[in-house]
Amino acid sequence: MTTPRLVRICGALAEAEPLGNAALYELARVGRRGLLGEVVRIDGERGTLQVYEETNGLAVGEPVALSGAALTIELGPGLLGSVLDGVGRPLQRIAEATGDFIAPGTTASTLDAERRWDFTPTIEAGATLHGGDVLGTVDERNGFVHRVLLPPGLSGRLAVIAAGSYTAWEPFGHLDDGTPLTIAQVWPVRRPRPVAARLPLHNPFVTGQRVFDFLFPVAEGGTVAVPGGFGTGKTVIEQSLAKYAAADVIVYVGCGERGNEMAEVLDEFPRLIDQRTGRSVMDRTVLIVNTSNMPVAAREASVYVGITIAEYYRDMGYRVALMADSLSRWAEALREIGARLQEMPGEEGYPTYLGNRLGKFYERAGHVRALGNPEREGALTVISAISPPGGDFSEPVTQASLRVAGALWALDPELAHQRQFPAVDWETSYSLYAEATNAWFSEHAGSDWPDLRRTTLELLQRDRELREIAALIGPEALQDGDRLLLETARIVRDTVLGQSAYDANDAISPVEKTYLLATLSRELLEAGQHALGTGTTFDQLDLATPRRLLTELRWAPMADLAVRAAALRAALKELAK
Ligand code: ADP
Ligand code: MG
Repeated sequence: MTTPRLVRICGALAEAEPLGNAALYELARVGRRGLLGEVVRIDGERGTLQVYEETNGLAVGEPVALSGAALTIELGPGLLGSVLDGVGRPLQRIAEATGDFIAPGTTASTLDAERRWDFTPTIEAGATLHGGDVLGTVDERNGFVHRVLLPPGLSGRLAVIAAGSYTAWEPFGHLDDGTPLTIAQVWPVRRPRPVAARLPLHNPFVTGQRVFDFLFPVAEGGTVAVPGGFGTGKTVIEQSLAKYAAADVIVYVGCGERGNEMAEVLDEFPRLIDQRTGRSVMDRTVLIVNTSNMPVAAREASVYVGITIAEYYRDMGYRVALMADSLSRWAEALREIGARLQEMPGEEGYPTYLGNRLGKFYERAGHVRALGNPEREGALTVISAISPPGGDFSEPVTQASLRVAGALWALDPELAHQRQFPAVDWETSYSLYAEATNAWFSEHAGSDWPDLRRTTLELLQRDRELREIAALIGPEALQDGDRLLLETARIVRDTVLGQSAYDANDAISPVEKTYLLATLSRELLEAGQHALGTGTTFDQLDLATPRRLLTELRWAPMADLAVRAAALRAALKELAK
C-alpha cells in the first residue's frame, strides 16, 4: 500500500494522496512530526485534513498516517481537576514533561496511564450485563465517587471481576467472551453518548445569581445562550456559575478567548471551596483550554471534547454543567475551515450547516435516565456565551442559538456601562423553564415565588414606561404612586438584580437570600402604598432608611439575614404608618 503524502498545505488544512480509503473524520498523523489531524473531505484519492496544530514547517511530500479511528477522548478517573487542550491533551502533564510550550506532534494521553486506582466492584461474577451498567467505583478525588461503567454497546455475562488496585487500562475482570473490563473507556467525541430515556425538565440549575434564578431560571438539563458585546460580563457570568452553581461536575470550555482569563481560573479555582461538599471547586471541574493563541481547528474540536466528558459524568448519574466561552469563536473556526475548503458560504460567510451543527451541540444537553443498571438520572446543562461582533444580536451565531436554546440571558452594554452587573437586559431576556421550575422554587424558597417573579417583572416593565414619561414631563410631574413605583424599581435593580462577582458575601446568593431580598422589596412597596393611601405624600415618605437596610442586607453574610430582615420589617411598619 502506498503511503499517503502531502500534496498541498493551506493554513490549518492539508491535502494528501492517496486517501481514497480513509473514512470521513478519521484521525491521522500529519507530516514527519506527526501533527494531529482529522480527515474532513475525500474527493477521489485526494483527502483533505484539518490539522489541530501549527502547520508552519509542514512540507509537501511528507507522509500521512491514518489511525483507523475517529477523534476520541479517554474517559476515566483523573479527568476532574485536569486541564486539557482542545483535543484532550493534559496541559499540566505536558508542561511537567516538556516545559511551557507544547511541541507540535506531542502525544500525551488524556488520562495518566501509570496512576493506580482502588477499584471496588458493585456487582458479582455471573451477572448479565448491558451497556452502561455500573461495574464498581473508584474514589476519583477527595471522596468523589467515580462510577465505572460498562461502555455502551457492550453486553454479556460477567465471568471475572476482582477488587484491587489498577491503572486505567489494566483489566479488573472480563466477560464470558473474553472482553476485558477496564476502569477507563474511549468515546468518539462527535457522537453523542446514548441514554436510556430523555426525561422532562423540572429541577432548576441553581446558579446562585439572583437575576437568573429569580427572573430567568434554567432547568437542569436545559440550555442557555448568553450573548453580549465586548465587556458586558459574559466571562464573569460563566466563571461565577462554574464557581458557585449547584452542580456535581463542571466542564469549562475556554474557547478562543484570552489566555490570561484561563490563567486566572487556574489560579483561583483550586483555592475556592464548594460550599455543598466542602471540597475545592477544582475537585469538581474539568477545564478545556483552547485560547485565542492556539490553533483554530482544535478550537472546533474543543467543544466536542468538553461535551463528551460532560456526558460521561452525566451517565454516572451526576448533575453536570458545561460552560462554553465562547461559541462564537467555535463558529468562527468553523467558518475559517469552511472557507478554506471552498464550501459555499451562507450568511456572513458562515457555513450553511452552522445552525444544524449548533443545534446538534445543544441537543446533547438534557435530563436523562442513564443507560444501564442500577437506574440513575443525570443532567447536562449547557450555558454558552456568544460574542456577537459589535453586540449586534441579529448576526447568525446569536440567531442560530436563539432558535435552540431554552433561555436567553441577553447582556446590554448600556447596563454594563452603568455598572449594573450582571448586565442582563430584563426586557429581551427570557426563560422557557420558569413554569417547569416553579414547583421547586415554591417548595425550597417561598410558596409565592411564581407570583413574586411575575409582579417583579411587571414592576420592571412599568418602571421602564414611567421613566420614558418622566423623561418627557419631569419626575415631579408624576403622581405619588408612580414615583413610589420608580423608587422601588430602583431598589429592586440595586439590591435584587445587581450582584457583585467580587464580594465574598454577595458573589453567591442562595435561593433563600434571593427570595428574602425580593419579598422585602415587595413589602417595601406595599408599606409605601399603604402610607400613600392614608394621606402621606411621597415627599414625606422616609424611604432612605428601608433602602439602606435592604442594601446592607444584600451585602450581609447569610448568618445575619434573619436579624437584619426583622430590623427592616420594623422600619417598614414605621413607613406604613
Ligand atoms: P466579556 O467577557 O463579556 O467581554 P467580562 O466578563 O470580561 O466581559 O467583564 C468585563 C468587566 O465587567 C469585568 O472585568 C468586571 O470589571 C465587570 N463585571 C462584569 N460582571 C461583573 C459582576 N457581576 N460584578 C462586578 N463586576 C463585573
Ligand atoms: Mg469574555
